[in-house]
Amino acid sequence: MKVTDHIKNAKGETLFSFEIIPPVKGKSIQELYDNIEPLMEFNPPFIDVTTSREEYVYIDRGGLLDKKLTRMRPGTVGICASIKHKYDVDTIPHVLCGGFTKEETEYLLVDCHYLGIDNIMALRGDAMREEQYFEPTKGGHAYASDLICQIRNLNNGQYLHEVIETDNCSDFCIGVAGYPEKHMEAPSLKTDLKWLKHKIDLGADYVVTQMFFDNQKYFAFVEAAREMGINVPIIPGIKPIAVKRHMQLLPQVFRTDLPEALIEAVEACKDNKEVRQVGIEWAIAQSKELKEAGVPVLHYYSMGKSDNIKKIAKAVF
Ligand code: FAD
Repeated sequence: MKVTDHIKNAKGETLFSFEIIPPVKGKSIQELYDNIEPLMEFNPPFIDVTTSREEYVYIDRGGLLDKKLTRMRPGTVGICASIKHKYDVDTIPHVLCGGFTKEETEYLLVDCHYLGIDNIMALRGDAMREEQYFEPTKGGHAYASDLICQIRNLNNGQYLHEVIETDNCSDFCIGVAGYPEKHMEAPSLKTDLKWLKHKIDLGADYVVTQMFFDNQKYFAFVEAAREMGINVPIIPGIKPIAVKRHMQLLPQVFRTDLPEALIEAVEACKDNKEVRQVGIEWAIAQSKELKEAGVPVLHYYSMGKSDNIKKIAKAVF
């Protein structure tokens, strides 16, 4: 079922959902099942599965270091299919522009349709580690908006090289990313919102936000988006802080600000066990306020371990 239909059917109740990351050099899907299992009691209507670009690995060829592009994580669509059929839950693959040609994207979307996947999260992806800026892959898309057009065309039976007359077209519901503290490359929040509106005008159906730790940033973002005429659901993304290093890592990688009170609470912790607890309590407070404000879904970034998400969900749902 489409995310937008799940939201409609909930009739104003806030839904619980989460995102998982295929593990680096994952050994077996059982690792992910073990992670998901404890969260199923909260009835997530959908689970997102992220995609990573291929990465360069350095290999030793008899003393000479060589680099090779490789995929370090198991495939997102396969994982979506397994989880969907094991738990009878909708799964949402994150589909990236970076690292994929349009043809490869078409094959992937055809697979998704065949597997009964109804939603696609359409994203540009980040620059590779060694690039200063995002460079579109040769034969691929430059922006998430271009990918949205490809998905929309496919929904209309328009493949890259032909138009297929069929009553079995995909009808994907399309999610896109939004940034309450603006995307790192955008010159201003207003410009970023203009491009977000562009994605919605092209056919995106809902927005999931980047993580934020101050709810006022989300509320202001939603208000600004509504003023610009963005009327689709805007789902807040919540990440519980789990280790002290997140204090530097999250602002560096995601350009999110951390409130002083959270920084002080983390700094006062003796070890990462205490930090994890602070992260849980902060996320519970954030979630309760957002739920009270009537957000359609609370979407959690699980980052491999689900014990903290379970504690948050228990306190909030
Ligand atoms: P776009 O919407 O294409 O925007 C990129 C930048 O270009 C922005 O600054 C925007 O303002 C600007 N812009 C947009 N359109 C245009 C245009 N037509 N002309 C000029 N400028 C434009 N990354 C992964 O690698 N894998 C994942 O699974 C993943 N999941 C994510 C899930 C969520 C909820 C979020 C918020 C992010 C996720 N990301 C993921 C990160 C995302 O790929 C990066 O933030 C990326 O840098 C931007 O992606 P986007 O889809 O927002 O890009």
